Amino acid sequence: MDLRLTEAETAFRAEVREFLQTAQPQSLRRKMELGQMPSREDLVGWHRILETKGWAAPMWPVEWGGAGWNVVQFYIFSEELLRTPALPPHPHVNQIGPVIATFGSEDMKRRFLKKIRTMEYYFCSGLSEPGAGSDLAALKTQAVLDGDHYVVNGQKLWTTLAHHANWMYALVRTDPRAKKQQGISFLLIDMSTPGISVRPLDTLTGARSVNEVFFDNVRVPVENRIGEENRGWTYIKHTLGVERMTQAKIGSSKGKVAFAKQLAATAMTEHGPLSENVRFRQKLAEIEVDLKALEMTNLRMVDHSMKHGGGNQDPKMSILKLGGSLLHQATLEILMEVAGPQAMARQVAFLEAMSDDIETIGPKWAATIPLNYYHGRAASIFGGSNEIQHNILAKAALGL
Ligand SMILES: Cc1cc2nc3c(=O)[nH]c(=O)nc-3n(C[C@H](O)[C@H](O)[C@H](O)COP(=O)(O)OP(=O)(O)OC[C@H]3O[C@@H](n4cnc5c(N)ncnc54)[C@H](O)[C@@H]3O)c2cc1C
Repeated sequence: MDLRLTEAETAFRAEVREFLQTAQPQSLRRKMELGQMPSREDLVGWHRILETKGWAAPMWPVEWGGAGWNVVQFYIFSEELLRTPALPPHPHVNQIGPVIATFGSEDMKRRFLKKIRTMEYYFCSGLSEPGAGSDLAALKTQAVLDGDHYVVNGQKLWTTLAHHANWMYALVRTDPRAKKQQGISFLLIDMSTPGISVRPLDTLTGARSVNEVFFDNVRVPVENRIGEENRGWTYIKHTLGVERMTQAKIGSSKGKVAFAKQLAATAMTEHGPLSENVRFRQKLAEIEVDLKALEMTNLRMVDHSMKHGGGNQDPKMSILKLGGSLLHQATLEILMEVAGPQAMARQVAFLEAMSDDIETIGPKWAATIPLNYYHGRAASIFGGSNEIQHNILAKAALGL
C-alpha cells in the first residue's frame, strides 16, 4: 500500500488549492477563518461560483453536472476546503442529488437537479421525528393518497436550517400496515405549500439552526415522489460512499490544532506562555497522535476504495464518524482552554460577533470559540449517534 499522492494527484491538489484561494470571496474566507456562520446569501453566492467551475456537486453523475472525480480527488477536494478554509458545498446537495439522479423520473431530474446545484432549490432534510431518530424507521408522519396528491400530516424534528430552505426531502409513511421499513415513501415537498409551519428550537449556541416542522393536511403532488411508493427506505440508504469517506474531517481538526498552537504561544499564564505548560502540551500531543492515526486509517480506506470500489455500506466507515466527531470535540475543547476567560467574557457578545460589522470588546476569534464549542457537542449525535456507531462496529467486528 502506498499512501503518497501521484504526480497527477499532486497537480490536482495544487489546482484545487489555487482555485479555493482566489475564487472564494474574501468576506466569506474571513468568516470561515473566524468560525462565523455563513449567511444564506454567502452559501448561495459561493455555490454559483462553484457551479461555474463545475464543482458545485462533484460527486454527482457527470451527465447531471458532476465533476467525474475518483475517490482520491474527492478526498483531496474535501481536505483542501477544510484547510483553506473554504465553505463546502451544501451537504444536502450531495445527499439528495444522487438519489434523484438514480431513482427519480426523467421529468424530476430535469425539474430539480440543476436548481439544486445552483441552490435555487435549497433543501432541508426531513427524516427525524419525535420517537424516530436512531430508530428512523419508526417514523409516523403520514401521507395518504388523494387523487393525484398525497395529503401529509405529522411532524419532523431537528430540521437543520428549515427556515432557510424552500424544499424538503422527507420520508413519510404511506402504508401503516406494512413492516416498519416497507411502508415508507420518499417525497420532495415545496416548503411554501399551505399547511407547513416551521418553529425554531432553542439550542446551547443561541443561534437559530434547528427547527420543528409541522404538516397539517399538506398536499404534495404524486409526481414529487421519488421512485416507487413504499420503497423510500431503499432510496434513503443510497448515500454516497465517497462522501462518507470524508466524514472524519481531518483537515478541519488539523486547522484547529494549528490555531490552538499559535494562540497558546501568546496566551500568558503566571508561569509563562501556555504553550510551555507541560499538561497543555501533553493534551495537545495526544490529540495530534490520535489525529495522525485517524488520518492514516482514512487514507487506507480511500486507497482500498480506489482499488476495490464500494465503501458505501462498509461498517468500517463508522470508525471515521466516531473518531472524527470525538477529535472535533477535543480540538474545540482545547481552543476553549486557550481562550480561557476571554471565551467566557465573550459569551454575552458572541452572537454579535457573528457579524463582522459589529465591534467586540476582545478579539473576534475568542468570541466565536464558545459558539463552535457548544455546536460541536452535537457532532456525536447527528448523522447517527456515536452509540449507534459503536453498535455497528461491534456487530461487524464481534458479531454481537
Ligand atoms: C444539531 C442537530 C442537527 C440535526 N439535523 C437534522 C436534520 O437536518 N434532519 C434530520 O432529519 N435530523 C436531524 N438531526 C437529528 C439526528 O439525526 C438525531 O438527533 C439522531 O439520529 C439521534 O436521534 P434522537 O435525537 O431521536 O435520539 P434517540 O435516538 O432517542 O437517542 C437518545 C440516546 O440514546 C442512544 N441510543 C438510541 N438507540 C440506541 C441503541 N440501540 N443502542 C445504544 N444507544 C442508543 C443514542 O445514542 C442517544 O444517546 C439533527 C440533530 C442535531 C442534534
